[in-house]
Amino acid sequence: MTELLYLQNAYLRENEAIVIDVTDTAIVLDRTCFFPEGGGQPGDSGTIGNVAIIDARLENGSVLHIFDPNERPAFTAGERVSCKIDWEKRFSRMQAHTGEHIVSGLAHTLFGCENVGFHMDGTVMTVDFDRFLDETQLVSLEKAANACIYRDLSVTAETLSAAQAECRPYRSKLDDLPNPRIVTIEGVDRCACCAPHVRSTGQVGLVKILAAMRHRGGVRLTLIAGETAYADYAEKHVAASAIGQSLAVKPSEIAPAVEALLQKNKNLSYEMNRQLQDMLLYIRELTPATTVNLTFFLPSMSVEALKNAVVLLRDRTKGICVTLCGSDADGYYFAMSSTEIDVKVRARAITGALNGSGGGRYDVVQGRLRASRAQIEQYFKELQVNQDENA
Ligand SMILES: [Zn+2]
Repeated sequence: MTELLYLQNAYLRENEAIVIDVTDTAIVLDRTCFFPEGGGQPGDSGTIGNVAIIDARLENGSVLHIFDPNERPAFTAGERVSCKIDWEKRFSRMQAHTGEHIVSGLAHTLFGCENVGFHMDGTVMTVDFDRFLDETQLVSLEKAANACIYRDLSVTAETLSAAQAECRPYRSKLDDLPNPRIVTIEGVDRCACCAPHVRSTGQVGLVKILAAMRHRGGVRLTLIAGETAYADYAEKHVAASAIGQSLAVKPSEIAPAVEALLQKNKNLSYEMNRQLQDMLLYIRELTPATTVNLTFFLPSMSVEALKNAVVLLRDRTKGICVTLCGSDADGYYFAMSSTEIDVKVRARAITGALNGSGGGRYDVVQGRLRASRAQIEQYFKELQVNQDENA
C-alpha cells in the first residue's frame, strides 16, 4: 500500500520516500505526492531521484510510478529517494478538474443532468450529460459556472463512513464505494472523486464551453478551464485581431464581415461565370463550321471552364472540338469533345503523338499535352487535311 499524500494536500509538489520495489517498468514507494490516473484525470509525471516518471497508476493500493524502460533506476528497495511532480501540468489539471465539478454540479441543479462520462485529454475535457442542453441552457450554465468562480467558494474533500454516505446525498460516478471521498464546492456541489482539486473556485480562473454535440440521447461538452482557457483566449484574440485588421472592422464584428466577404466572393464568381458564358457564346458565333476546331484560351482558364467551353463549341464542328490553355513552357491543359466521334478512342492517338495524358468519357476527354503551341497546331492541321480528304 502506498500512502497517498496528495489526498491530504493537493498542493504538495515533492516528498521524500522509501523505495519498496523496482519492477521492469515501475517504482513503488511507501508514500507519494504523484496522483495516479483516475476519475478521468491522467496520472502525474515528474522525477524520482534522477529518473523521469512518465505516468502513474494505482494497482491493488500501490502507486506504480512508470519510467521509460530504457532509463532504469540505479536505486533499489530500501533506499531513500526524492520525488517531484511536474507541477505546472498538475495544477492545470486541478484547475480543469475543479472546473468540471462546477459545471457538472450546476448542470445537475439547474437542469437535472447526470454526468455519465468524463475524459481529460491534456487539459481539454469532454463531459457527457444524460440530457440534451440547448444553446440558451448552455449559455446560462457557462455564466453560472463563471459566477461560482468569481465568488471564490471553498473546495474541500472528506472521506465518509458507510453510514455517513447513506444519509448525506452526493453526486457520483463511483457510488458503489463503501467509503466515498466527497469533494464539496461550498453551496454548489458534492461529488465523489479521487482526484486532487484546487482549494477554492477562484483558482479555476475561467471556464469555457468550446463545443456541444448530441451524444447518446444527451449532450457531450468540450470544456476548458484555468490556464488552458486563458491560453485559448489569448490565441483566439490574436487571430480575431489579425482578421479584424485585414477587414478593417473590430474583432467583435468579424463574423458578419467575413459573411459579407464570402457573399461578395460568391457574387463575383457568379458574375465571372456569366461573362465567360457570354464570351463563349460570342466565340461560338465566330467559329467556322470545320472538321477540326482548336481554340486556345488565356493560361488562367480553369480545366472546368475548358470543359464547359468545349461542350458549348462542339456542335459547330463536324469532327473534333478542342479547347486549350497553358504555355509552351508548362504544356497545355485541354478538353476535347465531339457530337459524332468517340473522343475517348481518338484521344489516345492524340496524346500519344503530343506527349500527353488524359482521360474521360466517350463524349468529353480532358488532359494535358507536353508540346508547344506550334506542334499542337501543326498536328491538328494535318488531322483536318486528312479528315477533309476522307469526307
Ligand atoms: Zn474530481
